[in-house]
Amino acid sequence: MTKNGRLVLLPQSLAVVLVLQRVKQLARSFKTLRGAQKRLIWRQGQKTLLALSVLLCLLSSASLSSAISVKNDQPVVLPLAQVHPLPASLAAIASPATEGDYFDQVKPIDVGYLVWSQFPIQVYIAPPEISNAQAWLASAQQAVKDWQAYLPLQLVKAPAHANITIQATAPQQRSGSRVRSAETTYQIFVNDQGILSQRFTVMVRPNQTPQYVLAALRHELGHALGIWGHSPVNTDVLYFAQVRTPPPISTRDMNTLRRVYEQPTQLGWPVTRSAD
Ligand SMILES: [Zn+2]
Repeated sequence: MTKNGRLVLLPQSLAVVLVLQRVKQLARSFKTLRGAQKRLIWRQGQKTLLALSVLLCLLSSASLSSAISVKNDQPVVLPLAQVHPLPASLAAIASPATEGDYFDQVKPIDVGYLVWSQFPIQVYIAPPEISNAQAWLASAQQAVKDWQAYLPLQLVKAPAHANITIQATAPQQRSGSRVRSAETTYQIFVNDQGILSQRFTVMVRPNQTPQYVLAALRHELGHALGIWGHSPVNTDVLYFAQVRTPPPISTRDMNTLRRVYEQPTQLGWPVTRSAD
């Protein structure tokens, strides 16, 4: 899983304000001093200015990758985080609480938990352009089927309105990180109905065994369905590392998913157009 884009720039903005205050402070004391002291303060001032420019760079790059895309760039007011009704498929599962969960490992993003509220969730599997395409496709379809017991998922034939897109593509290699075999990224946007929405892309490296593709996709789909974190237990699908014998979706996976869907989120609620 990879976090994609940020909505809240508050920490950086706050830092800029703090640096600006420091610059003012230095300028004030500069007037009242002489000689060596002046030089010292001058040096401090230069450092502060350097910090300020670094912060400004950070700010502009953060806004470039900012995830909310709104048509016509009209400013919007985000909805309040609220709880959606628990999907019937999750409510119906009688799972023993004794097995526990790893909900404490699931982190909400800026807009809350990655909960889906429009069902069925539409999944598009991009036809893989690889030699063993049939086997790859069968594995991908099986991974979707495995999660269908817990949330309504529907395979769709066109990518245009898919909520989750699955691709046989090697994830982008980031400098300094280990080679990734699979990756899930999300985008937050306002849809045509004015609802704050999420969209996921799941990439799995091609040319892996069908068994591997099934295990990797089962894991990544868990992220795309809302489990944005990892289990510390190797019999869970969302275990953080690859295991020799990939497990089926566990009671703990299920319990965790249900708890995620009991959480508030800004996703799935309408945005309001701001007055100006
Ligand atoms: Zn993962």
